[in-house]
Amino acid sequence: MSNPQSSRRHPFRRGLHASRFCASLRRVALLRASLLSVALFAAACLLAAPAAALELPRHRSVPGGVAIVDLGASVEAPRVTLGDVPVLVVGNPERWTAVVGIALAAEPGVRHVTVRRAAQAEERLSVVIAPVRYAEQRLRVAPGKVDLSAEDLARYERERAHLAKVVATHTDAVPVSLRLRQPTPGQRSSSFGLRRIFNDQPRSPHSGMDIAAATGTPVVAAATGRVIDVGDYFFNGKTIWLDHGGGLLTMYCHLHDITVKPGDLVAAGEHIGEVGASGRVTGPHLHWSVSLNRAMVDPALFLDGVEE
Ligand SMILES: [Zn+2]
Repeated sequence: MSNPQSSRRHPFRRGLHASRFCASLRRVALLRASLLSVALFAAACLLAAPAAALELPRHRSVPGGVAIVDLGASVEAPRVTLGDVPVLVVGNPERWTAVVGIALAAEPGVRHVTVRRAAQAEERLSVVIAPVRYAEQRLRVAPGKVDLSAEDLARYERERAHLAKVVATHTDAVPVSLRLRQPTPGQRSSSFGLRRIFNDQPRSPHSGMDIAAATGTPVVAAATGRVIDVGDYFFNGKTIWLDHGGGLLTMYCHLHDITVKPGDLVAAGEHIGEVGASGRVTGPHLHWSVSLNRAMVDPALFLDGVEE
């Protein structure tokens, strides 16, 4: 889990669009065959070249959200921590940005991140966390359905300890992209943060996005990364964890089939498994989670075309 992230790189989608734009300009330039057009084409291509900055997730500073914090200019990237957990920093010497995951359990109010720059005094920047009210679901079920047997409880505790180590994975490489792909086609639920209360006992809130899909539907990597864990867990069923660098991880649960193994490098959009109904579920779907600096955050903030 501590091996350095691969430096394998894939072009951003934005970059591909820019080159298509340049190709059509090139045809126009050739038709006109004038020096002026060629000069204009060159200037347009420079403007359309992919920017060095990554596209950021949407800023939503609430429990389960992501705060985008401007760090200003400095020659080297500042090192930022929230508590003692390293925070993702992206940008360039003209402008650095911290991308801070906020835990679902965080209290609304002011938190601070610590910013360290070479040869400068430590700085504390405030992050204001606004309150949010996620939906609540109260269920009455037979007691045997919610109380685990001693054997199941022991298994769950072992798995919880293992998964705490997985979620703490941090490699320094900055993710190739902060815009993620929906890992399987299908209806996205907006149940992130849903508070489930079984027989008056609150359970952990829903910390991911459920995507409805039939068993066998292909699941692809949401971004370029490295497989850091594969397992078959009591609640999550057959599960894959990917490390995208900088403390950004994604998790894919309840799979029917897994076609990757720990250590594998995967490109964004590469096939990693199939939707299923393994673990504690009522039917086939993909549960997909995004973890940033060990906080499970709303995957919708990283996808195109989802507004809440
Ligand atoms: Zn789920």
